[in-house]
Formats: sequence, structure tokens, C-alpha cells
Amino acid sequence: MSTEGLESSDVRRFRLKAREWLQANVPRLERADDGACLPPDRDEPEKTRIDFARQTQAQVFEAGYAGITYPVEYGGAGLSLDHERAYLEESADYNVPTQVFAVSLNILGKTLLKYGSAQQKLHHLPRMLRGDEIWLQLLSEPSGGSDLAGLVTRADRDGDVYILNGQKTWSTGADSADFAMCPARTSWDVPKHKGISMFIVDLQLPGIEVRPIKQINSESDFCEEFLTDVVVPSDCMIGDENEGWRVVRGLLEIEHEWVGRTGGVYMPRTDVDDLVALLKQRGLDKDSGARRQVAAIFTLQAAQRALAIRVGQAIADGHLTPAHGGLLKLGNDTLRQRRSETALTLAGSSGITWEPAAFGHECTAIYLRARSASIAGGTAEIQRNNVSERALGLPREPDADRDRPFSEVPRN
Ligand SMILES: Cc1cc2nc3c(=O)[nH]c(=O)nc-3n(C[C@H](O)[C@H](O)[C@H](O)COP(=O)(O)OP(=O)(O)OC[C@H]3O[C@@H](n4cnc5c(N)ncnc54)[C@H](O)[C@@H]3O)c2cc1C
Repeated sequence: MSTEGLESSDVRRFRLKAREWLQANVPRLERADDGACLPPDRDEPEKTRIDFARQTQAQVFEAGYAGITYPVEYGGAGLSLDHERAYLEESADYNVPTQVFAVSLNILGKTLLKYGSAQQKLHHLPRMLRGDEIWLQLLSEPSGGSDLAGLVTRADRDGDVYILNGQKTWSTGADSADFAMCPARTSWDVPKHKGISMFIVDLQLPGIEVRPIKQINSESDFCEEFLTDVVVPSDCMIGDENEGWRVVRGLLEIEHEWVGRTGGVYMPRTDVDDLVALLKQRGLDKDSGARRQVAAIFTLQAAQRALAIRVGQAIADGHLTPAHGGLLKLGNDTLRQRRSETALTLAGSSGITWEPAAFGHECTAIYLRARSASIAGGTAEIQRNNVSERALGLPREPDADRDRPFSEVPRN
């Protein structure tokens, strides 16, 4: 669903230039018999895939399409969300690996831009945009992801450095990343939100062990990390000591808005065009019940897209607060899950086989992956709390520990 007909002449010119550049420089994605785009590098080893992604990203950077909304001084193009959307629509059919850099460029780079020091921004942002540095988030811990402020990874100051100890988990892409944003507790004698600091951690530092986690769908998208006496220089702190909760909250708001606006890291392949192709292949294109199911998804997708453009722009312009990004994430999670359920229903018995079905839609894998949409980046329950408290101004959820020194909060 392209926005091409609705854009300004400036965006239109940008789109045509990008189209020309893509045609001349980047191979198109392969297509299955049913017309659906196949994901690239299906059988490539991880390292080859990452190397290819970095090379392509460097090319995209040199051409000026890597950080379309980033300021020019940090290597970006200083343009609008409309320009970025036009480029994403144009590049969707090309083999430009965006998933590897999705967290770096859409969440962590934007967080660094908002909260980092001038030196941190000048050093890291151009490297992130070029694909030289892949970043990830080390937020969740085994003791819980929703209660992020209750994290127990510690950072103890020792002169000019901090010593980090603890365990993180569910970190997307940690086995191929270079740097992380990692909140850790720097004070235990104040309430939980007030004793956290945010660090930039080089993942090559001694004392960091990264272990991939095997998932229900047999893939390994995320890892757990063990931090043992990791020495981090004090100039790697983002913001001030014990002020890291502000950065964590800002990071999450940026993530929710981006995931809701674009679909996030895992772009599902069950787009409406794919569902229509599936209907035809299953001989269901004259079945009124099946047609209605696809039409319902088309309607939901159109509504989510319109909402995403409007709310995304209103947040960018300051008319809505970043907390409204939670609305977009909730809408996107529902859309992804309903779309994958519809695909599985339409696929019939072939949809329950694990191997890619004859029609080229890996419906089972997509369905299972979509389950994670309402967990990743904060669960749907937590999003609803956020929207009610921060966007609607309703009373806060009771929290008996909110004003208690963290050292006195019972923990297991
Ligand atoms: C695909 C995927 C990618 C991820 N990538 C990353 C990553 O890169 N980095 C990272 O740090 N983490 C990542 N995560 C982890 C994710 O952020 C956490 O799973 C999520 O925040 C939930 O935390 P939890 O799993 O510990 O569940 P818990 O916090 O233990 O929650 C369990 C259940 O209780 C409910 N619940 C908890 N508190 C409340 C409350 N106050 N009110 C109502 N209900 C409540 C939750 O909604 C949930 O249903 C990823 C997760 C997924 C699925």
C-alpha cells in the first residue's frame, strides 16, 4: 500500500531519485511463484549474511539513504518521515538488508541522538548509519522484563571506570552486534527508578559471554548475556549517574512509536497481497467467507497505516507526546497477529506443516512469530497501562515499592 499519490512534490522528487539509484545499484529480491517476495540469504551462514548487510549498508550510506531523518552533522540526510517512508516503500522489493540494523538505526541511534553527549553522538552515529556498528538493547533480565526499573545488574564505580556484573536476556541479535545500551544499578539506597544509569557497552570487552537462545520455531533470534567484572569507562555513560531511567523510558517510547509506525524488526510476509495470492492458490477467491476475512485484514491494515502516519507525524511535530507511540504499537501487534491467523486459516491443512507450504507462505512460522508481537518491546498489558497513565492521564497503577529504597524491596 503505497502513499505515492498523496505526497508533496519534494518527496516525489526524492522518491524518483531513490528509485533510480536502487534500480542502478541494488539487486531485486527473488519472488516465489505466487509473486510474494522471498526473504534473501535463506541458506547463508550468519557471518556471510552480516558481512553482506554491512557492505550494502555502506553503499546506502554513501548514497545518502541510510539516516534519512538524522541530522546532516551526524551523517544523516536531515529530511522528514515522509521522505523516509517513500524510500522504504521504494526499497521494499530490493535486497537491502534492513533487519540487521533495525534496532540500531530506529531505536538506539535515535535514543543516542536525544540523550547522548556531543562526543558520543559524533563518534557513534555516523558509524551506526554506515553499518560499521550494530547496536542492541540489554534491557530485560531473568527476574523480569516488565518491571524494568527493578533490574539488578550492578555497576560499581572504581575511579574512572564502572565494573558491571549481572545477567541480561532476550537480547535480539546479540551474537552479531558490536555495542549495546545497557542500564545498570548504580545506587541501591534510593527508590528503584532513581538508582539506574545507562551505559554504552562494547560487546567485545572481556567478561561478556553471549549465549544464543533456541526458540519454539527452531531459530535463534535472541541471546542471554552474562556480565562478569566488565570494565566500562565512565565516559560511556549516557546522561548523568542515576538518571538512566529517563533514558530507558525515552528509548522505549522511541521503540513503540517506530514499531507501531512501521511494523518493527520482523516485517511479516503475510501482507494483503500475499493473502490474495493465497486465496487464489487455494481456489477460495470466489468463497464469500474467505474473501470477507481478507477484506477485514485489508481494512485493519489501512486503518493502522493511516493512524501510524498521523500519530507518527504528530509526535514528530510535538502535537502528541511520545507516550502516544504505545497506541501505534498496540494496533500493530493486533494487526500482525490477526493477519497471521487469517493466513493460517486460509492455508488449510497445508498451513499446519512445518516446512514452507506449497504456496510459498511459511504460515506456521509466521503465525508463531506473530505471537511475540504482543510481548517484544513491552507486553500489550504494559502498553495499555502506559497509554492509560501517560497518554490519557488516568491514575497510576499502585506500586508499593515506588518510594522505597531499592535495597529494602523484597526480591527473589
Ligand atoms: C521477539 C522478542 C524480542 C525481544 N528483544 C529484546 C531485546 O532486544 N532486548 C531486551 O532487553 N529484551 C527483549 N525482549 C524481551 C521483552 O522486552 C520482554 O519479554 C518483555 O518486556 C516482557 O518481559 P518478561 O518476558 O520478563 O515478562 P514478565 O515481565 O515476567 O511478564 C509476564 C506476564 O505478566 C504480565 N504483567 C507483568 N506486569 C504486569 C502489570 N504491572 N500489569 C499487568 N500485567 C503485567 C505481562 O504482561 C506478561 O503477560 C524481547 C522479547 C521478544 C518476544
